[in-house]
Amino acid sequence: MSSNTVQHFDISIVGGGMVGAAIALALSQAGLQVALIEKQAPAEFDPANAPDLRVSSINLASEAWLTKLGAWPSLQQMRLCPYRRLQAFEQPQSVVCFDAADIKRSHLGHIVENNLLQLALWQQFPANLSLFCPASVATLSQTCDSVLLSLDSGEQLESKLVIAADGGNSQLRRLAGIGTNGWQYQQACLVALVNTPYPQQDVTWQQFTPSGPKAFLPLPGAQGSVVWYDDAPRVKQLAALSPEQLTAELLKAFPDQLGEVKVVSSSWFPLARLDANRYYSGRVVLAGDAAHTINPLAGQGVNLGFADAKLLTELIIDARRHSRDIGSAQLLQNYQRKRKPANLLMMSTMDGFYQLFGNDIGPLRNLRQLALTIASRSGALKKLVTHYAVGSE
Ligand SMILES: Cc1cc2nc3c(=O)[nH]c(=O)nc-3n(C[C@H](O)[C@H](O)[C@H](O)COP(=O)(O)OP(=O)(O)OC[C@H]3O[C@@H](n4cnc5c(N)ncnc54)[C@H](O)[C@@H]3O)c2cc1C
Repeated sequence: MSSNTVQHFDISIVGGGMVGAAIALALSQAGLQVALIEKQAPAEFDPANAPDLRVSSINLASEAWLTKLGAWPSLQQMRLCPYRRLQAFEQPQSVVCFDAADIKRSHLGHIVENNLLQLALWQQFPANLSLFCPASVATLSQTCDSVLLSLDSGEQLESKLVIAADGGNSQLRRLAGIGTNGWQYQQACLVALVNTPYPQQDVTWQQFTPSGPKAFLPLPGAQGSVVWYDDAPRVKQLAALSPEQLTAELLKAFPDQLGEVKVVSSSWFPLARLDANRYYSGRVVLAGDAAHTINPLAGQGVNLGFADAKLLTELIIDARRHSRDIGSAQLLQNYQRKRKPANLLMMSTMDGFYQLFGNDIGPLRNLRQLALTIASRSGALKKLVTHYAVGSE
C-alpha cells in the first residue's frame, strides 16, 4: 500500500505497553477494526534469561480481566509469582499482616514482569488487529467526526477515536493539547533483583523507615525484587555500586527477614506524580500512565490503568452494539466522570502514606504508630484494607 493512502479504522491506539495492548486486544476481540502503533515490540520469552527488573504487583481485579482476555494463561506458562500475605511494619516485632485467608481467597495478587505481561497480551492479538511496529506518530489532526494520524513512515491512519496509552511522557497527550498537574518527588527508588537463601516465598512486605520505605516482592524460585526508597542523590549513589557493594548496603539497611541475599542486577527510577487536566480532547482519549502517573509505593499504577482500560472498552463495545458513535463526547465524558475521581483518590491516598510514613517528624511518628496499631488490632479494618489491595470493593 502506498504510504500516502489513508487507511481507515474504527480506533487507533498509540502505545502497546501493558495498558494499550489490553485495550487493543479487548476491542479487536469484539470485532472492531483496530490499529495499534508501538515503538518497540516486547522481546521473546527465554526461561534462561534473568527476570526483568521492571515488575508489577497485579491485583485480583486485573487478573480476572486479563483472564477473560485470554492473556493470563499465557503469562502463567511463562513466569509469575503469587503472594498470599502482605506485611507492613516499622519495627519487625510489630508487623501488620494482611492474609488472603482473611477474605477467603487463595492469594492476594501476583508479582509479574512487565515485559512478560505485555508479551502475553501481544500473543493473543487476533488477525483483524493491524499492528504498526516499530512506528511512531508524527502529526495528529482532528475534524468533528474523525482523527487523522500521520506516522513517521508517512502512513496515514484515520479513525473515529484515538486512544493514547503511550505512558507518563505521552506525546499524544501533548499533541491533543491536554495539560497536566504534578511534581517530581524528592525521593527516588532503587530496584534490585536478588537471589535469596529461601525457596520461593509467598509474602510481600514493606518496612517504613524515616528515610523511606524498604520493600520485598517475591519472584519465582529463590529470587525476589527489593525496592529501596530514599532521597534521589542517595539512590543514585547506590545505583552506581557494584552488585557486591550493593549487597553489603542492602544487608546493612534492610531488616533481617530479607535473609542473606545477593544482588544480581539493579536500576533506579525517579518518582513522579502526574494527573492529566482532562482525560479527553475532541476524539483523543487518555488511558493508563498517559492519564495518571502515581507513586509506586503501593504498586497500583498499572492496576489503575487496567481499570481505565476495562471501563473504556466496555463503553466503546456497548456504543458499537447500539450503533452509536464510538468517539462521542458523551461516551468520553462518561469515562472521565467515572475514572478520574477514582484515580485521584488513589493518588492522594498514596501521597498521604508518603507524608505519614516517609519522614521522622514527631507527631507524624506517633500517628503512624497509632495507624499500624489500629490496623493490627481491628479485624474489620484489616479486611477492608485487604479488599482494597486486591481491587474489589
Ligand atoms: C519502580 C516502579 C515500580 C512499579 N510497580 C508497580 C506495581 O507493583 N504495580 C503496579 O500496578 N504498577 C507499578 N508501577 C507502575 C507501572 O509500571 C505503570 O503504571 C505501567 O507501566 C503503565 O503502563 P502503560 O501501558 O500505561 O504505560 P507504559 O508502560 O509506559 O507503556 C507505554 C508504551 O507506549 C510506547 N510508546 C511511548 N511513546 C510512544 C509513541 N510516541 N509512539 C508509539 N509508542 C509509544 C512505549 O514503548 C510503551 O510500550 C511501577 C512503576 C515504577 C516506576
